[in-house]
Amino acid sequence: MKPITIAIDGNAASGKGTLAKRLAAVLGMAHMDTGSLYRLAALRLMEEGGDPADEASAVAAATALSRSYRPEDSDNPDIRTDTVGQATSRISAIPAVRAQILELQRNFAMQPPALPGGRAPRGAILDGRDIGTVVCPDADIKFFVTASPETRAARRHKELQSKGISVTYDAVLADMRERDARDAGRSTAPMKPASDAIMLDTSAMTVDEVLAFALGKVREKTGLMPTE
Ligand code: C5P
Repeated sequence: MKPITIAIDGNAASGKGTLAKRLAAVLGMAHMDTGSLYRLAALRLMEEGGDPADEASAVAAATALSRSYRPEDSDNPDIRTDTVGQATSRISAIPAVRAQILELQRNFAMQPPALPGGRAPRGAILDGRDIGTVVCPDADIKFFVTASPETRAARRHKELQSKGISVTYDAVLADMRERDARDAGRSTAPMKPASDAIMLDTSAMTVDEVLAFALGKVREKTGLMPTE
């Protein structure tokens, strides 16, 4: 039987990652944060002293990543900085970089890995920018998560402050607008909702409300209910 696939796309700090993680936990599904794959390729490139504008170096970094990737690599905190985020959005506009990372994502959706404790997953949840449009166009259910730029910048600012990183709200907002524009404006796999995606604006919602809404839609469309 084909595993169930849930596609969650949306912009930076929209809440898509949190939703994907929580849905995966309550539904007993494997989760892939696809942004971490692009971030790992960008980090590798930066560590090697490469320039994100140099296509050949970016493709080489993505190729190396696609051959060596292990899920625990996504936990590397070094990939979460805004500098890496900006370099990531540059290299992810390169079609050959995306091609390298595509297979890794599709394999995960087709053959989701076992859950902690060896439990068999009921399917896969992938979050990113082009999951519903390019990576898994046949996903069983698709969400596109948004929030106003001001809400997203405030969330990100708070998160950075809690980590002791000193940066102004205005700088975070400017960074976010720049990354959104680049992700939505690129010609290959731009960030955009699939025509059959469920739109979810989290600006005025709590994390629990977002989860409850999404669980209701998943149950309606796929019949899947929480395992706990
Ligand atoms: O989701 P996150 O903010 O970690 O993604 C970092 C960057 O990776 C995005 O700004 C985007 O440029 C790129 N990305 C992408 N396609 C995906 C996931 C992320 O282009 N499926």
